[in-house]
Amino acid sequence: LFAGQSEFLKGVVAMSGLPPADRPEICFAGRSNVGKSSLINALTGTKALARTSNTPGRTQEINYFMVGGERLFLVDLPGYGFAKAPVAVVQQWQALLKQYLQGRQTLKRAFVLIDHRHGIKAVDAEILSLLDKAAVPFQTVLTKADKVKAADREQILVQVRAALQKHPAAYPEIVVTSSETGQGMETLRSIAHGLSEE
Ligand code: GDP
Repeated sequence: LFAGQSEFLKGVVAMSGLPPADRPEICFAGRSNVGKSSLINALTGTKALARTSNTPGRTQEINYFMVGGERLFLVDLPGYGFAKAPVAVVQQWQALLKQYLQGRQTLKRAFVLIDHRHGIKAVDAEILSLLDKAAVPFQTVLTKADKVKAADREQILVQVRAALQKHPAAYPEIVVTSSETGQGMETLRSIAHGLSEE
């Protein structure tokens, strides 16, 4: 699926801007700096496909990418929890996010990125509850696994598993990844491949 070229399609700021719902799609969510851009780039094998959330302008858009010979849309949701964003801006993208999650028929699964060093935090509560309400099945992806101390690993996993039990839309399977070492990328590609054929 990811062997071919992946390309940026468009940035969307309103539901009316979404591309036609004519193929399966998966989306990626996570707080700013969680490693979402790095993961999308590692996953697609493209150096700078997704830009970091620090790039002005791109931050509040829902960014669409085409992967796998046009068989799947990969959707990069705006990073959340960025303290400097004005309240009005945050409210605006939350409204769009809610509409998107509730209204996008072809959305097969959301991947929620969580920093493996920190586990699930209060800042993640909003997106998890939106996903529950919209009944969008979501899968937790732990990022930056290369940075976690071996001694902390198991304890954080236990915390994440316990937190996920409160979320009806959560998949129990957690994917542990590192964009630095490539850990977990094959697993994610294979999940995406399966979803592209649904
Ligand atoms: P985003 O804001 O979620 O898109 O996060 P970025 O992809 O821009 O990553 C934020 C920072 O974390 C950058 O400095 C990255 O180099 C670093 N980073 C991202 N993924 C990893 C990883 O798997 N391992 C390590 N060690 N650093 C990472």
